[in-house]
Amino acid sequence: MSAYGKPKVHVLLEGRYRKLVRDLPQTIFYCPVCKGRGKGCQSCEGFGKLTKDSVQELIQRKVLPRYRSRRGKFHGAGREDLDVRMLGGGRPFVFEVVNPKNLIVDLDEIRDAINDYGRARIEVTDFVTVPRKRVAQIKETHSPKVYRSLVVVDKEPTDEALEQVIGRSVEVMQRTPQRVAHRRADKDRLREVTVRSIERADGPAGETCLLIEVVCQHGTYVKEWISGEEGRSRPSLASLLEVDTRCLALDVLDVPGPFPELEGVSAPSFNDALSWPPANGDEDRWDLPTPNSVSVRAADGDAVAAPMATEAGDPAEEQE
Ligand SMILES: [Zn+2]
Repeated sequence: MSAYGKPKVHVLLEGRYRKLVRDLPQTIFYCPVCKGRGKGCQSCEGFGKLTKDSVQELIQRKVLPRYRSRRGKFHGAGREDLDVRMLGGGRPFVFEVVNPKNLIVDLDEIRDAINDYGRARIEVTDFVTVPRKRVAQIKETHSPKVYRSLVVVDKEPTDEALEQVIGRSVEVMQRTPQRVAHRRADKDRLREVTVRSIERADGPAGETCLLIEVVCQHGTYVKEWISGEEGRSRPSLASLLEVDTRCLALDVLDVPGPFPELEGVSAPSFNDALSWPPANGDEDRWDLPTPNSVSVRAADGDAVAAPMATEAGDPAEEQE
């Protein structure tokens, strides 16, 4: 038989996901050294991956056996860093089932199986089957993003400085951050950031913190905007408030779209809006891995810290 003989069948499932934890990449986190081959690799000890799970894997371990497929692809509407939670209405995605040998499935049963298996790490909506063109619509829609962040500061900003920033939109010139410069062109780009609110707060170890909520144009490097990254983001939250800052925790609260309407199909959404903080993080509403003391350094790019993301080879990009 010719290798070109049979056309491949693909099933495309659209849904939205929420990610409630800070240790989960969106897609399979292949080892950057061996590119996932694993065998003999010292970097990943032969595992091929740097995390056991990802949003993609938590979904596909339930989807693929039911379709009797061996391969799936995950197409997200942008992505969040692995240490960033995705809350609120969740993020749209299309999961592609490659070459299914069975097409008789119960999509509600699959959804329930994923939510059961995901157990407070991820949640997904109903699925609808969509045509191929939906992948491009989902991936290419430039949605603004709403973020909430816990920011450590070296001192309280003045009321005057806060008044200058709260409720304002700021045009920010961002140079490609150092953490992604190895694989992205080094260039400047202009993005708009609107500061919805800033409140004083205590950090997990009693640090002086600010709780900020911002709406960012697509493709904004929000962690770098908070820190300034040695002047690579201008103006930054740090420069506007005249304090040193460090982003301690970040949540995406909304990826509102507008995503194009599909003919005859309503895009899936969560029935219940997830309030912030999510219910599972009772005493630690930020779900921080190690609430030890945090020192604020000069706004020096250290604010991208997310140690796992950096050490692990940086799988994630800010959403675009
Ligand atoms: Zn490896």
